[in-house]
Amino acid sequence: MPNIVVVGAGVSGLTTALLLSKKPGYNVTIVAKHMPGDYDIEYTSPWAGANFLPSSMSNKDACKWEKNTWPELARLAKDVPEAGIHFQDTLVLNRQKDANTATGQWLSELTSPDPWFKHTLPDFRIIPTSALPPTADSATAFTSVCINTALYLPYLASQCLRNGCTISRSILAHIADASLLHSSGKRADVVVNCTGLQASKLGGVIDKSVIPARGQIVVVRNEAPHMLTISGTDDGDEEVCYIMQRAAGGGTILGGTYQKGNWESQPDPTTALRIMKRAVELCPELTGGKGVEALSVVRHGVGLRPYREEGVRVEKEMVGGVWVVHNYGHGGSGYQASYGTAEGAVELVDEVVGVKAKL
Ligand code: FAD
Repeated sequence: MPNIVVVGAGVSGLTTALLLSKKPGYNVTIVAKHMPGDYDIEYTSPWAGANFLPSSMSNKDACKWEKNTWPELARLAKDVPEAGIHFQDTLVLNRQKDANTATGQWLSELTSPDPWFKHTLPDFRIIPTSALPPTADSATAFTSVCINTALYLPYLASQCLRNGCTISRSILAHIADASLLHSSGKRADVVVNCTGLQASKLGGVIDKSVIPARGQIVVVRNEAPHMLTISGTDDGDEEVCYIMQRAAGGGTILGGTYQKGNWESQPDPTTALRIMKRAVELCPELTGGKGVEALSVVRHGVGLRPYREEGVRVEKEMVGGVWVVHNYGHGGSGYQASYGTAEGAVELVDEVVGVKAKL
């Protein structure tokens, strides 16, 4: 029976462990420094919105990963209320002046009138010019999902436990050390590395191409009529504007920032004010037209997206005599690519175990 240790209990580690635990014969242990319920700058997953707004280009692996994730998120939204995911009508606004900015380029597929996902996400439509808000030159709408991460991460952990996984806390200095932490007491056959941004510091990995893309957010009690995002803001290239109401009382997330290379863990008050002003200007319904003072703040937060220029690393390699399968570097797409990348990691685990069986 292959013994597998998954390092990481964010959305990447838990999803990968869940898919592994569904395979007969795999004995899975999850080890991590941070667990669902924790809020820490080294643990990105709780801070995410999180929604499904594809940003991948159609010719990339990332597109396949997002495409392969949608059916499961949609199934959970439809049939599994305890997962904390719900469908939301989504409005994507585009300004021509953002075409050549960093944010505009990042969101170019999302804001396109002809994106690859127009046949994947339900109800895709182009908003007629007559119905556009004054801020936008064009817009699309579709149905997507919003995930309440405070419910979804524990849900994933509970599904792993139900399938027989063991979960424990540990801080690793080197990825190969994880092979000694399997709950059976035996050496693990494969270690799966889902350490997110910390892959840049973990011994045996030290991938310096993983850097933070800092995201500051405000969580409010106010409700939004739909999810909303726009191609850019007038507050600089590192500031973005999006609004999404989480399922089941999770509050509404107002974002945000996308600050590459910035490790600052504390929310900046002036940035927070700009985030709130932009949100209320774009969506006055948030406060019934009463302005920014009528926002009821639950908390301010900062999360560091694990950005990797080359994209998510789904690869296998031998490190210090231990087979390691990597699944890290999801940037701003850890939820919307979660099942796709986890499937990729599981395929690699299957390959390694197959190889070992033949030795
Ligand atoms: P993490 O959640 O950081 O988990 C890493 C795990 O590894 C933790 O358990 C940690 O303790 C463990 N670990 C690390 N190092 C060690 C070590 N040395 N020893 C032991 N354990 C270790 N994505 C979307 O898809 N949709 C969105 O709408 C969205 N919105 C976002 C908004 C914001 C503001 C932010 C910050 C992110 C957003 N994201 C979104 C991105 C998403 O949150 C990330 O891509 C995702 O959370 C990354 O998850 P992960 O499991 O790879 O890493």
